[in-house]
Formats: sequence, C-alpha cells, structure tokens
Amino acid sequence: MREPTSQAGHGQMAEKAERTSVQVAEARDIILGSVRPLGIETVDLGQASGRVLAEAVVSGHTIPPLDNSAMDGYAVRADDTTRVPSTLRVVETIPAGHRASRALGSGEAMRIFTGAPIPSGADAVVMQEHTELTDDQVLILKAAKPGDHVRPAGCDVLPDTAIASSGMPLRPPLIGMLAAIGRTQIRVQRRPRVAIIATGDELVEPDRLRDDGKIGNSNSYGLRASLEEAGALPVYLGIAPDRPEALREIFKEALRCDAVISTGGVSVGEHDWIKQVLAELGGSLRLWRVRMRPGAPLAFVMIDHVPVFGLPGNPVSTLVSFEQFVRPALLRMMGRSDVFRPVEPAVLAEDYEKQSGRMHFVRVVLREREGKRFAFVSGDQSSAILLSMVRAQGLAIVADEATHVPAGSIVPVQLLDRTDLRRAPGF
Ligand code: AMP
Ligand code: MG
Repeated sequence: MREPTSQAGHGQMAEKAERTSVQVAEARDIILGSVRPLGIETVDLGQASGRVLAEAVVSGHTIPPLDNSAMDGYAVRADDTTRVPSTLRVVETIPAGHRASRALGSGEAMRIFTGAPIPSGADAVVMQEHTELTDDQVLILKAAKPGDHVRPAGCDVLPDTAIASSGMPLRPPLIGMLAAIGRTQIRVQRRPRVAIIATGDELVEPDRLRDDGKIGNSNSYGLRASLEEAGALPVYLGIAPDRPEALREIFKEALRCDAVISTGGVSVGEHDWIKQVLAELGGSLRLWRVRMRPGAPLAFVMIDHVPVFGLPGNPVSTLVSFEQFVRPALLRMMGRSDVFRPVEPAVLAEDYEKQSGRMHFVRVVLREREGKRFAFVSGDQSSAILLSMVRAQGLAIVADEATHVPAGSIVPVQLLDRTDLRRAPGF
C-alpha cells in the first residue's frame, strides 16, 4: 500500500511510524530470529579459507611423527658433553627427511639439520653455534642436557587431540593444521548467495557517470564489497527503475538466491514501491522502521525462507544498516555463532548533541593518545555523506534517550574492519 501524502495523511503517518518503529536491539532480534544456517557442504582444503567449519576435527596422527632436531647442529649423548670442551667423532650426517643408518655410540656425534630425526642413542642436539668442526671431529663448547633442542614426537598433536570445533572460521593456522593432519576435504557451512538490487530512476552505473545530474550507483558496489568481506557470495542484479512491474520482475529473479538486499525506495515517497512489491510477492513484513540514525527505514520481509532486506537508499544508511542487521544475519546463515563486530570503549573527543528517541551510529576516527583511545567525529554525519564513512574506523553508539554527550564521555564504539588504521604503538 502506498502511504497517503496529504497533510492529514502525513500526521497519521507520523503517528503510525511511531507505532511501527522498533529499537535497534528488537530489530536485530527479529531478524536473527528469522534466519537459520543454510546447511553444510564438503570442499577441498584449498578452497576452505574463510569458510566456517561444520564438523569437529580430531587428529588421527602424531605430529611431529618422530623425535627430531629443532636446530642445525650435532646430535649427541648429553652425558658425553658434561665436561667442555669435549671432542666427539662425527660419524654421519642426517639431513631432514633422512634417518641415520645406525645408532649413535658413546664418544660420537652426528651432524644433524632442523627437522631431521634424532638417531637412537642420542638424547640432545648441540647448536652449531656452540661447536667447532675440525676434519671428522667436533669440539663441543657448551654442555648439553638431555632433551636440549629435541622436539619429541607428538609434541604438537597426538592421535585424538581435539583440533577445532564446529562453527570456527577457517583461518590460515587452522588450514595449515588440517593439511598437517592430512585432511584434504572438509565440511563447511554453505555460503549464502545474496542478490543485490539498486532502485532509483536517478541512478546510473559508475561507468556511465556523466555530468548530467544522474547519481552513480554506489550502494551496490559498497554492498558487494561488504558481502565479500563477510564471506557471502554477491549476485549483482543491477539497477531497477522506480516502477512496480519492473521491481516485481527483478525481485522474482532475486528470490532464487538465499537472501536479497535492495536499496532505496523504502521510505514514504510516491516512488517508494518496495514494501508494496514485496507484499505482492507473498512476503510478510516483519519490520519497518528502526529507531536509529542513520538508517531508519528498513523493510525486513521473509518470502518463503528467503530473507529480504529493503535497505534505505542513502549510501551511509545502506552501509550502517548492513552492518547492524544484514551482516549478522548472513553470518548466522553461515553457521557462525559470533556474528557481531567487536565493540570497545573510547573517549569521545568532542561534544555530541542529538534528539532523544533514536540510537545514533556516529562515524568516528580512532586515535591513541597517552594510552587512551579517543573517538573523533569523522565529518558531516548526514546519511548522504559517504566521505565521513570512508574515513571512519568505527561507529560510536549513542543511546536512544541520550541528548547531550559531553566530550570526555566513554562511548562504546563498534569497530569496523579497518585494522590497517588501528596499529598498536610500536608496530
Ligand atoms: P530513496 O530511499 O530511494 O529515496 O533514496 C534516498 C537517497 O539515496 C536518494 O538521494 C538516492 O538518490 C540515494 N540513493 C538511492 N540508491 C542509491 C544507490 N544505489 N547509490 C547511491 N545513492 C543512492
Ligand atoms: Mg529512490
């Protein structure tokens, strides 16, 4: 249904908006309560990076498989080195990947390299730096204790060691570990294919941008990058005009995906058709309007099992709404339990004024000064100003009821993924 546009209508609408709007936390609960993990698939280890593990992994191997040297040096009997310097006869060389042909005897040493198996009879390795070689004899300059520079078999992993649990993201060390225990295929959560639809007669693709008053479609590109960063698979469907028939067609196509994101057309103007079109497609509107800024209008609709997010059109509203609602939902669909960005305290560096009634997500730059983290407002906070979002490293969260937050207040800051700009001092 189109909203009325007469004066009287606007009054009714404001009242209705108050009744239909929900707080951020409620909106998040409604959305997260509507989506489920998509399911599991098996992938090759080489394709598993960034995916979410969907099985518990237990080692079937002993790693390292043999006692081996942690250094380049000489395998010895520690007993033979108690008095230094002591001279030992070098009887063999053991490179990594080879075994000694015989046991080490008393008064003997074997040249050994990092990772090479310790010969039987030896119980320590003397570092090369603590020796002097002359012909076939080695002078040991430092006494060894049993076990020195020996990595015992199984010191990393034994058979039955629990390696990882379901729900963990597959980061590089875990990928390496899986390779180390010989796992070539791994069960992971499916990744959602997510349709992206831009709406608006004023939009053109970036390569068509001329000085003719049209607006470059920035939302679809920002969203595409956000989806990739979250580990989802973007399906780009282009720009739809502000006509219900055209929107219906593009949404029908989009509904073949696991989730749909549209931007724009979700407010109360005459050309804002999204809610009506989604209702016609059988969607049940679970949410519309969140008490937040930027990003108040937000249509959340389930059509069969497909969540559809009608995000607001202003570029910052789009991205902030994605961060608060879409990303957590997609991570849940990918089986992740930790779906939220980290929130950390910072000292607000300047006064912030607002009206009561909405939660604000303030774009901030973070700076460390004398061991404290300060949050500076990153620029104009209008929802159409993308540059202040470009500069922001976090979103300072200001509560619904707050009106005046004085400089020096501690505010929670949701950290965006900008590790490049958050280097700790000394690094
Ligand atoms: P709407 O909600 O459709 O009224 O859009 C609100 C504002 O966001 C308008 O100024 C639009 O031009 C702008 N906008 C909508 N979609 C996009 C987009 N894909 N890229 C950049 N700006 C957009
Ligand atoms: Mg529009």
